[in-house]
Amino acid sequence: MGVAVYERDTSATFRSQGYRISLKASGADALHDCLPSNLFDLCVATSIRQATRMVFMDPQLNPGFDKPTPPADSGMNGFGVNRLTLREILLADLADTVRFGATFERFEQTGDGRVRAWFADGTSTVADLLVGADGTHSAVRAQLIPDAIVDELHWVIYGKTPITDTTLEWVPDILVDAFARVTRDSEQAFAMATCRTREPVSRAAARLAPGLRLTDIPGYFQWITPLADASLHSADAAVLHRHAADQVRDLHAAIGRLIAEADIAATFPVCVASAWPVDPWHDRVPNVTLLGDAVHTMSPGRGDGANIALHDASILRDALARATAGKLSFADAIAEYETQTLRYGFAAAAASRDSPFTSRSFSPPASTALSCWDQFAATHTAGDIVEATVTGHLPIGAFVHVTDGVDGILIGAHPAPGSRLAVRIKDIDLDKRRLSVVTTGHDTHA
Ligand SMILES: Cc1cc2nc3c(=O)[nH]c(=O)nc-3n(C[C@H](O)[C@H](O)[C@H](O)COP(=O)(O)OP(=O)(O)OC[C@H]3O[C@@H](n4cnc5c(N)ncnc54)[C@H](O)[C@@H]3O)c2cc1C
Repeated sequence: MGVAVYERDTSATFRSQGYRISLKASGADALHDCLPSNLFDLCVATSIRQATRMVFMDPQLNPGFDKPTPPADSGMNGFGVNRLTLREILLADLADTVRFGATFERFEQTGDGRVRAWFADGTSTVADLLVGADGTHSAVRAQLIPDAIVDELHWVIYGKTPITDTTLEWVPDILVDAFARVTRDSEQAFAMATCRTREPVSRAAARLAPGLRLTDIPGYFQWITPLADASLHSADAAVLHRHAADQVRDLHAAIGRLIAEADIAATFPVCVASAWPVDPWHDRVPNVTLLGDAVHTMSPGRGDGANIALHDASILRDALARATAGKLSFADAIAEYETQTLRYGFAAAAASRDSPFTSRSFSPPASTALSCWDQFAATHTAGDIVEATVTGHLPIGAFVHVTDGVDGILIGAHPAPGSRLAVRIKDIDLDKRRLSVVTTGHDTHA
């Protein structure tokens, strides 16, 4: 089966890829399935040394929770890896397959069961199947499922501080080789991880994939601070770095120094997003599908997103291989893949949203939204009947709008979007700003 990859970036190293990414056993397994064995071994050889503990501290680095992480062999048990290294390994030997600098814009049906993808430079290509693996802001999803909802949960600043010959002399031991979090007033104020590869990546490449050039990544501390000021969401690295330094002024002096000694240009903002479930689309558009964050982007709270994207790749590859071998139809292969990814992908997205490691989920973008919720929760309780307007469909029911700033999920019924219904409140969760309702059987008006 022929395949071509169209990538918006002009090269693998075009933009900062971010820092560490943790793969669990499921992600390692999927990677192992999808890669030639020497490249999988190279991922493991270039992985980041395992953290020895997980520690939560107060602003002066007094530990509250301090748990050693059990030593485990890197490999099929999972491992941490630098994003750029993983990307460079995934792209190995694909020079003839990947076209860089190709920004997908839209697709159209050709009328003979195939699909044409159009790119920003005016070129196009025709295929039997278009797979949108274009991330959280997927242009493929925008056309395929225009009413899909992706919430912004919160923003953070990511930065990195190089580990030089002298850094480890002044960084407190409790922060080294740990997943370390500092909380202030029960909110995360600072988090960091130590990122040192097990061996220099170029040396591992020379041993396991001669001819493959990997970018060496010297050791560094990756750190995160909150970014609550919306006016800084598109600020440049220097402004974000200054803001991060301001955020940690009241914390232990070593944290201030870590930020002072950071690689300023490597500071960037991250919007943590989370997708709501969508209906299957394969009956409607059988030759376009989605993979990874393009369909079920999720908070990194539990470190699942890339694991699930890799699992998607593995099961889609398997389904297509069975179709090519004549074991099932092409349409059934895609439908089977979609059914699975919607099930486990959105289960993981929900779990990540509720993770204790994220800041309060569903933080309202405007203070008015929170007061609407406060007011609604103060004046309503389970069992009350309220009016709601159906705004979209879910596999388990429907989205409903109840009142300004208050939306919920109607469980177990699929009325047409736009219908107005009397619904009974099943549960109100003020912390998570979740409302679930059930029908009473009464339409008010359509
Ligand atoms: C701060 C943070 C930390 C995280 N940590 C972890 C972790 O430890 N473990 C974990 O499992 N997950 C983690 N995740 C989640 C993980 O990064 C994502 O789930 C994963 O990268 C999704 O892969 P993807 O290929 O679907 O999308 P992406 O990695 O976003 O890749 C999408 C690609 O599509 C390209 N593209 C976009 N638009 C277009 C277009 N129009 N045309 C052509 N190309 C386009 C982009 O340039 C990009 O190369 C984290 C996420 C964040 C934000």
